[in-house]
Amino acid sequence: MAAYAYETHDYDVVVVGAGGAGLRATLGMAEQGLRTACITKVFPTRSHTVAAQGGIAASLSNMGPDNWQWHLYDTVKGSDWLGDTDAMEYLAREAPKAVYELEHYGVPFSRTEEGKIYQRPFGGHTTEFGEGPPVQRTCAAADRTGHAILHTLYGQSLKQKAEFYIEYFALDLIITDGVCTGVVAWKLDDGTMHVFNAKMVVLATGGYGRAYFSATSAHTCTGDGGGMVARAGLPLQDMEFVQFHPTGIYGSGCLITEGARGEGGYLTNSNGERFMERYAPTYKDLASRDVVSRCMTIEIREGRGVGKNGDHIHLHLNHLPPETLHERLPGISESAKIFAGVDVNKEPIPVLPTVHYNMGGIPTNYWGEVLNPQPGNPDAVYPGLMAVGEAGCASVHGANRLGSNSLIDLVVFGRAAAIRAGQTIDRASAIPATNKVEVDRALSRFDAYRHAKGNTPTAELRLEMQKTMQADAAVFRTDKTLAEGCEKMDAIARKMDDLKVSDRSLVWNSDLMETLELANLMPNALATIVAAEARKESRGAHAHEDWPERDDVNWRKHSLAWVDGAKVTLGDRPVHLDPLTKQEDGGIDLKKIAPKARVY
Ligand SMILES: Cc1cc2nc3c(=O)[nH]c(=O)nc-3n(C[C@H](O)[C@H](O)[C@H](O)COP(=O)(O)OP(=O)(O)OC[C@H]3O[C@@H](n4cnc5c(N)ncnc54)[C@H](O)[C@@H]3O)c2cc1C
Repeated sequence: MAAYAYETHDYDVVVVGAGGAGLRATLGMAEQGLRTACITKVFPTRSHTVAAQGGIAASLSNMGPDNWQWHLYDTVKGSDWLGDTDAMEYLAREAPKAVYELEHYGVPFSRTEEGKIYQRPFGGHTTEFGEGPPVQRTCAAADRTGHAILHTLYGQSLKQKAEFYIEYFALDLIITDGVCTGVVAWKLDDGTMHVFNAKMVVLATGGYGRAYFSATSAHTCTGDGGGMVARAGLPLQDMEFVQFHPTGIYGSGCLITEGARGEGGYLTNSNGERFMERYAPTYKDLASRDVVSRCMTIEIREGRGVGKNGDHIHLHLNHLPPETLHERLPGISESAKIFAGVDVNKEPIPVLPTVHYNMGGIPTNYWGEVLNPQPGNPDAVYPGLMAVGEAGCASVHGANRLGSNSLIDLVVFGRAAAIRAGQTIDRASAIPATNKVEVDRALSRFDAYRHAKGNTPTAELRLEMQKTMQADAAVFRTDKTLAEGCEKMDAIARKMDDLKVSDRSLVWNSDLMETLELANLMPNALATIVAAEARKESRGAHAHEDWPERDDVNWRKHSLAWVDGAKVTLGDRPVHLDPLTKQEDGGIDLKKIAPKARVY
């Protein structure tokens, strides 16, 4: 291999990723005086979080009665009883605090008449433990909530003297005797190599939506953290649960926020029927996402889709007052115009369920510490490594995430990771020395891709993977499609050895970068389809036509997947059923969140 010189950098903490989760962790670490670096492959405010429109869930009760226990109930039910109870309690209880902190950091939330933070309704968020009317729990900065959060957190992190390494691509973790001691990164604009030694590495690399053909997520959402973790021999968790958003714009995948239905929008089929009334009489168009996506797919399959090919559905906003559209949903009106050529004041928007969110990821506890499950100790912590945001799996979303529960996950667990690191990092200890063997291993792998001389161009193999995942691990799944999908994905993953990279340059080499991203997408995709094939039940986003019922006896457990090349080994971990706080100390009555059928 060509010898690569590298520069070394020493920090207490290195955060990989500058989306909402990475920035909240970075800020929290730096505030406590930990020497903190944040490495990011795109400029911080271009992270996918910038696209989050709808808002962030917290039971502030600004629009009517609400409390953390109702939020917990909705999250448990949304997760289809697969989330970890302790983590979900932590999320619901800490949410208001985390939102007020954002407000104080400067996020320009929309306001009510009295000047309080404006909150809108969102799917699956209810009152009275699902017995009462929908609640307005989703705090919003118009339809640009993620954008506002990113800009605020980036500014605050700079103020706290966190150091940013922008347009650095993290290649691999450095593992020294079973402890993560840093990362190796490639600087994209000048081709130099960098070794970051640290006492703690935090992965905040986002989701892997781009394993699919049609996704609402950015092209950069390639599951790099999951790829690095898989290569380090650690498992991924609950990867079979992939959320489809009901309203991606037909053709482009561009998202129309659920806030559009929150503000009164509704769906119709080719008969002009508001079909959600039939499937979910209580919450109708605001039923949980997996439910709405499935109903849309049924309508289309049964011949009631709209358009020339009867292959999509209409979303109506044209009955809403122009002021509401202008004030509450300005970005939507613009997206609909650009991506569908539609004036939302006059016509419905053509929409289709589109891959939107990955519930699975790197398993962690509710402090963001990465787990390395062992026989007899399913919650063993892997030293030196944390994961937060969509890259992680705490697990608060279980089998299905509620809208606006991800942004709150980013800030609650980004903050929790910083609190934990503040407690566990020994400031007096030396920063780990450079592990040259590990650095060489990472650089040899990089060099092998750089000089890959096979027959398959990266873009071709990526497309094959995306089409296979879209066809065989989609909204509806059967034993047959999943088995075929696993076979196809196995063959596709094996072709990683036959890649052809044409550009050997070290500077702004998108061919090489996309190859490294594909090498990260692949283990995520494999884990997804293999775990989906194994799970013989239907739960949340995993709707299995041959196993239509949820099976709590055999399957109320997290699945684990260790991926090594094309080989996937499955295992499982128990779901945490105990809350953080006992009922007599002010905790939830467990009877309230006991499993039952999930109807909306
Ligand atoms: C269109 C859209 C709208 C959404 N709307 C909402 C909403 O209204 N409410 C809600 O709660 N949720 C929403 N979600 C979900 C939510 O926005 C995401 O789950 C969340 O923003 C993910 O944040 P993150 O910090 O984990 O990762 P991201 O924001 O994706 O950031 C990932 C970061 O990791 C960096 N990175 C990745 N790989 C590497 C690497 N190899 N080297 C260096 N850096 C790397 C990137 O540069 C980036 O900074 C939406 C999602 C989408 C796609």
